[in-house]
Amino acid sequence: MQVDIHAPYKDRVRQALGDPNLRVAVSKATDRMANARNASMDEIEGERLRSQLRQMKQNVLRNWPDYLQDLETNLRQNGCVVHWAEGIEDAQQIVKDIALQNSAKLVVKAKSMATEEIHLNHALEEAGLRVVETDLGEYIIQLAEEPPSHIVAPVIHKRLEEIADVFQEKLDMPATRDPSKMTSLARARLRKEFFAADIGITGCNFAIAETGTICIVTNEGNGRMVSSMPRVYVAVMGIEKLVPTVEDAFLQLQALCRSATGQKFTVYCSMTSGPRRPGDVDGPEQVHVVLLDNGRTRMFARGYGEALMCIRCGACLNACPVYQEIGGHAYGSTYNGPIGAVITPALAPEIARFKELPHATSLCGACREACPVKIDLPRLLLDLRSDLVQQGAGPTTEALGIKSYSALMSSRRMYESLGKLAGIGSNVYAGMSGGNIKFMPPPLNGWTAYRDFAPFARKSFRDWWRERSKVRRRA
Ligand code: SF4
Repeated sequence: MQVDIHAPYKDRVRQALGDPNLRVAVSKATDRMANARNASMDEIEGERLRSQLRQMKQNVLRNWPDYLQDLETNLRQNGCVVHWAEGIEDAQQIVKDIALQNSAKLVVKAKSMATEEIHLNHALEEAGLRVVETDLGEYIIQLAEEPPSHIVAPVIHKRLEEIADVFQEKLDMPATRDPSKMTSLARARLRKEFFAADIGITGCNFAIAETGTICIVTNEGNGRMVSSMPRVYVAVMGIEKLVPTVEDAFLQLQALCRSATGQKFTVYCSMTSGPRRPGDVDGPEQVHVVLLDNGRTRMFARGYGEALMCIRCGACLNACPVYQEIGGHAYGSTYNGPIGAVITPALAPEIARFKELPHATSLCGACREACPVKIDLPRLLLDLRSDLVQQGAGPTTEALGIKSYSALMSSRRMYESLGKLAGIGSNVYAGMSGGNIKFMPPPLNGWTAYRDFAPFARKSFRDWWRERSKVRRRA
């Protein structure tokens, strides 16, 4: 069953929980990635690497405007065209204009969360272009007409059998469950698209400010083909995806590869510092870099700057017990898992638009332990909840509950009387239901939907203590 990402939050979660295949697929893959990450970090001084990376990213945030200016200057000096996009429509329009100026018909793309964020495929298709995803996982979900469900592994929610069905239906593949045959078919199809494409579009894992270089890492080599084969190359990058120097780039690469997949290094790391120069045998004739804000500066101003240090490795998703149960689509947003639950509301014009997401967490802290930048995601989630309450957008039942609890705890007489009442009432009700309370009316039915509720003690601790003291005094 596919989760309807447009359904209300609770329905999405119910749909996800009701699909045992989804849970098996997601938890198997996330366990594998988390174990690989742990082993890879244990091989080196993982803690030292994390501390160094955090320091570097903090430095970037402290000097953000300066590094951005350096990057822009160096990109221009290298012959790139730099575009600034404030929001989704600006970014879409910039890429559409580039396509129009180059009479483009076919676009090949490498996996990119920034282009997902600005719904670029949809905008380009509406403008009459054909867009082909070339990362294998993205290619599969494009064929299946679904959004990605993981930052690093977009098709994590599908089992092999489901992917084979998609290939049979959309690519007329003869019936097979052999992954190597399926991969070969996709590879042959995509190769033709690479040769025919007018424009290549990628995201950007990070850009090096001191050299004006765009870096992308992949395991399939498609990123390099997308950025070097078509005449025109466009990189869309969030304005926080910066490192100051080449040394910093290697620090981030090390942490990114180990945290994402447990690899020492990805198979490909492509660095582009401008268009083809005289004498170069290949490379694009034009390189455009779109620097995307889309709420990042607002997020910084709101006090959620720490989340801008994220390097999108996905380790927090793999460690999260909530993500493991519900997968990515139940979040209903481009970014999911713990980091998605923070940045989706924090980037949005109104935090309250995504008010459920800061509650899609157990606050166990596993995400913070896995994060290579040591981002304190649980604290950021609590900050968001606090902001929602300040804005009057917290859950109504929770606000009512806290108010009633506060009134109850301020009056000893009321507390003791209600305690007695609850003790008698709950024990009578439990007696009728055979020992434990199996059903409670809304809003408490959420509890009894999954577990019994034990009745209150017949006698409060205070009463028991008073009686005990009386008996002792008499003795
Ligand atoms: S928050 Fe940390 S663990 Fe999660 S994706 Fe970002 S860098 Fe990786």
